[in-house]
This record gives sequence, C-alpha cells and structure tokens, in this order.
Amino acid sequence: MSGDHGQAAITTDDDPRVAEALRRVWGFERLRPMQAAAIAAGLERRDALVVMPTGGGKSLCYQLPPLIEGRTDIVVSPLIALMQDQVDGLTQLGYPAAALHSGLSAEARGEVERGVREGRYRLLYVAPERLVTPWFLETVDRMGTTAFAIDEAHCISQWGHDFRTDYRQLATLRDRFPQAGIHAYTATATPRVREDIVAQLGLRDPAVLVGTFDRPNLTYRVLPREDLRGQTLEVLSRHPGEAAIVYCLSRKDTEQLAAALKVAGVKAEHYHAGLSAELRHATQDRFAREATDVIVATVAFGMGIDRSNVRAVVHACIPKSIENYQQETGRAGRDGLPAECVLLYSPADAMRLERLIDRAVDEAPDRGVAEANAEVQRGLLRRMQGFASTPRCRHALLAEYFEQAYEAAEAEGGCGACDVCLDEVRGVEEATVIAQKVLSCVARTGQSFGVGHLVEVLAGADSQRVRELGHDRLSVHGLLADTPRKAIQSYVYQLVDQEALARTPGDRPIVMLTPAGVEVMRGQRSVQLIRPRSSGRRSASAPIEVHLGPADRKLFDALREHRRTIAAEKGVPAYTVLHDRTLIEIAKRRPGHATALAQLHGIGEAKLTTYGPGILELVAEHG
Ligand code: ADP
Ligand code: ZN
Repeated sequence: MSGDHGQAAITTDDDPRVAEALRRVWGFERLRPMQAAAIAAGLERRDALVVMPTGGGKSLCYQLPPLIEGRTDIVVSPLIALMQDQVDGLTQLGYPAAALHSGLSAEARGEVERGVREGRYRLLYVAPERLVTPWFLETVDRMGTTAFAIDEAHCISQWGHDFRTDYRQLATLRDRFPQAGIHAYTATATPRVREDIVAQLGLRDPAVLVGTFDRPNLTYRVLPREDLRGQTLEVLSRHPGEAAIVYCLSRKDTEQLAAALKVAGVKAEHYHAGLSAELRHATQDRFAREATDVIVATVAFGMGIDRSNVRAVVHACIPKSIENYQQETGRAGRDGLPAECVLLYSPADAMRLERLIDRAVDEAPDRGVAEANAEVQRGLLRRMQGFASTPRCRHALLAEYFEQAYEAAEAEGGCGACDVCLDEVRGVEEATVIAQKVLSCVARTGQSFGVGHLVEVLAGADSQRVRELGHDRLSVHGLLADTPRKAIQSYVYQLVDQEALARTPGDRPIVMLTPAGVEVMRGQRSVQLIRPRSSGRRSASAPIEVHLGPADRKLFDALREHRRTIAAEKGVPAYTVLHDRTLIEIAKRRPGHATALAQLHGIGEAKLTTYGPGILELVAEHG
C-alpha cells in the first residue's frame, strides 16, 4: 500500500493499548482503516471475514489482538515457508510466536511443544491437516484458545483459484470450538467465494470487512511479447541491483530465461516446484537475504515470499486469473514505494493454459466435478484475457473487477500509473469499424477457418489456397489491405480476448462468431482495439534514486550492506531485519541518537535495542 495515505489515526476513543503496541513493537504510527476494524473484531472475538489485497497488512490484524490480550491465538496457514517467515519476522520484533509443521526437527518440535505447555506464545501457526489431529485439538483445549485466524481462507472454496482439500477440514472448527472467534482472511474478489468461505467455516454473523484493492504505487503495463529476453532485460534495466520476480509458465522456461539473464550480467536464479526442497529453500533464502536480485520462477514461487522491496514483477506469460495477477503483482512494492508490473502478453499463452485446463479434466477421477471446476477456471482466464487486451486504465479495470469504486482514472492524465494513462498504448481509431471488417470476414468465409487464413483473406493475399477456396472473390478480400499482417492478426486475437470471437478447442482451432460479435457487426455494441507496438520506451516507474540524493544514496547503500550482513549472520530474511522504507528514512533524516531513531517507521523497541547502535555508528561515519 502506498505510504500511509488515507489511514485512519487511532483516536482516543479506540483502545489506547493498540496504539501503544503498534508503536512499541512494530514501530508503526497508524493502522490502516480496515486494520482498525479487523483488530476490533479480533479483540471482541467476533467472527469476521477480512478481505484485503496482498500487501494490505492482513497479518498485523491477527498478530495484535492476542498480544494485547495476553492470549494464545492460532493461525492456520497453507504453507510452511509462509509460517516460518512470519515467525522469523515476529521473533525479530520480540513477539513470542512459533509454528508447528512437518518441516521441524524432533528437537525443534519438542521445544515448541514445551513453549505451548508453558503458555509462552501469543501466536501459534499451524497447517490445516495438523490442526485437526486429536493431539492438537486437545492441546488447543488445554491452551484455552479463544480465537482462530484462517489465512488464505479462499483455499477452502472450490470456486476459488487455489482450492486445497485439506482446508475443507476446517469446517469442523465451528462445532468443536463453539465459543471461539473465527477470523477468515483472504484477497479473493468473487462474491461466490466469499459466501462460500462464510458458509464452509460456519461463521456466525461475521463482520465482513473489505479493504481497498488499489495499489497506487504499482505501475501496470501490458506489452505484446515479441522478444522475451530483450523485453525482460529492458524492464530490469530500470531497476539495476534491485529485486525483481519474473513469472514463467513452465519449468523449462524459467531455466532458460534465468540462464539468459545471467549471461547478460543480472544476478538471477530460477525456481520451480521440480527442484529439490533443499535447492528451493536455498534459493528463497538467498533472495530473502538479498544475495540474489532476480528470481525467474513458476507460480510455485510466491506465497511466503514477503521481501518487501521487490521493485518489478514481470509476467512472461498471462496469469490464470485476475486474482492470480493481483496476487503475483502484489508482491511488488509491499513497502509502499514505487514499483512496476509488466505483463508480456501473447494470445498463444491463453491457449496453452486452456489446454492445461482441458487436460486436468481428462485426468481427473471425477469428471463431473472436474468439468464444473474447469468451467470456473476458463471463465477466470477469459476475464484475465479481457484485462490484457482492453485499452482502458488498468487500475480502473482492476478496481472494477474487485467491485470497488475508482475515481483517479477520471482525473486529467488518468491514474498516472498504467501504460494506458501514461499514453504508452495507442488505441485504434475506428476500432469498431475494423472489428466489423474482421467479423464479416469470419462470417463470409463460413466460420470454418483459423486465424492464419482469416488474416490472409483480410490482407488480400493472392495465394493458391485463397483462390482455390474462392475467397479472393469475396467482398471481404483485402478489406484490411493497408494494415500489416501482424496487426491484423493481433486484432483477431484481441477480438477473441474480448469475446466477440471464439476459438474451438483442439489443435487446429477454428474461429467463430459469438453473440457479442454478432452485436458488434450489427452496430449494437462497440469495441476497443490496441495498435500493436513494440516495447514501452519510457521508464516511468520512479527508481529509488528519485527519493534520495547522491549522498543519501550512499548511506542507503551502506545501510543495505549492513542489513545484508545481519540477515546472513542470523539466517533470516533481510526485510525482517529492517524495511527499505526504514533505511530510506534513516538515510534522509540521519538520526544522531537513539531517541531520534526510535521515531522512525519500523523501529520498535526490540529493533532499537538490537540494531540501534550499529545504525547510529553508520550514520555517524557518513556525517
Ligand atoms: P498481507 O499479509 O496482507 O499480504 P502483510 O501483512 O505482509 O500483508 O503487510 C504488508 C506490509 O505492510 C508489511 O511490510 C507490513 O510491515 C506493512 N504494514 C502493515 N500494516 C502497517 C501499518 N499499519 N503501517 C505501516 N506499515 C504496515
Ligand atoms: Zn490508468
């Protein structure tokens, strides 16, 4: 979330203990508005469904109440990495927390169990399948737990993009612990999934709290993918020495692209689920400790990667849904500083994804269930394709998808943070007329041909095939003779993405009209088209240098190096040591003593004690 805009100050009406703990433990000044409401529900142990985007600050909402109340709450979380990172972060803050998961050694496990018996922890993280074991349920009884937080709660719904069968078992919590508060957290947009979460968890009269999904510090761009390596390097060159994530569809793609980036001098590594757990862990670890800048990964990389200073997220392939896109791009700029998100789009990707969806149905044991789920997935993908190929403000489109109001796009210059509003994308004038020509060509050739042939006819080709079919004599022949073939092809795909045309499945897809396409032909509906053009020339997202003069930058770099050393020594992620935002404030304000340092963002009591002397020394050296 960008800075602290629009955050509600905690007033004296609110619990003063909240403000006190927020400053003392986290070093934060204010809660974000939705956080205040979620924490109130947490303190009252009223059931709640909290919907916030990635980076919205969900974790604080369930971390704060048990600390204040001196109780032990339980957090259910889907991934070990996610739990462990949070526990590491909390430990850095002097906050007593632990995680119970299958990755622990017998010794570590014994230690956690002892801590549980002694009531040492305020938060206990646990995987869903572990939570419902008899041993653990008894432990919960003994601890007298009165509140559960369910992180990534959409995993319980098969209508979501991340369904996990082990989450289903959480449905028993409500009956087993009738007195406890259950707090579900998710970033999911669709009402159907939200309703499903409430129903499955049996939430009682829950407070439904929906935060703002817009991420004003992220600049979104969608570019036609022409040269993956070159275009990726161009994005990365705008963020030299900074963190970035590049998402690819296949494991092989990640390996090839990472290798190509390394040759170009980028500190890049690949990551996918096919690597051994050890290798994956080591890679994640190097990224967290800032020993590696760029991770080229499948979507297996992400959850639990909370490095807050990621400056760019590149998609080398279209994501499966807008939720996925929001979640994956959401990993950029968590610290609220500017970051950019570039989607390198090729319509062929969507077809690849569709084939994967079809294959999943073929291989499923229960075809009926699988087909219903596949239909959900296809619908989500189509929405994403629409996002990629519509020349409208990207922030506005995302807000619309998440059913939220968005006013910035109406302002002059639009949102100022997407390729459309920055005027990097040229919409086609007379787009509807061009669309009508394409659609007529589909109709006149009998809805029986693929994209390639349609392009030939529209371009007015005089090939043997066109002549044999008699398509050179049609009125649509050569209707777009002045347009380059590549552009015509792009228009056809854009019309598919906007659902004016449909493609049959299979190896040789045929393009057909949809009801929406017929309306366009009749002039009852308009469409927008983008002129395909090579990569975005402008570097729009402000690099960190913008915030810092050369001298401050030097101190900032020294602080970063200092942080890297600490992270390596302790074996923890660098962002759990200190945030970029904290380092920037130190570089700018140059605190001369501990009291001044304690005023800064992210410096709570524990960090002041642990890191204060080292920081003050560095500042003095750079004085
Ligand atoms: P989520 O779990 O919703 O993806 P996180 O809990 O990881 O988000 O929080 C995202 C970032 O915002 C973290 O770097 C966190 O320290 C920061 N943050 C959370 N709440 C506040 C706040 N009230 N003030 C300042 N920073 C905050
Ligand atoms: Zn915009």
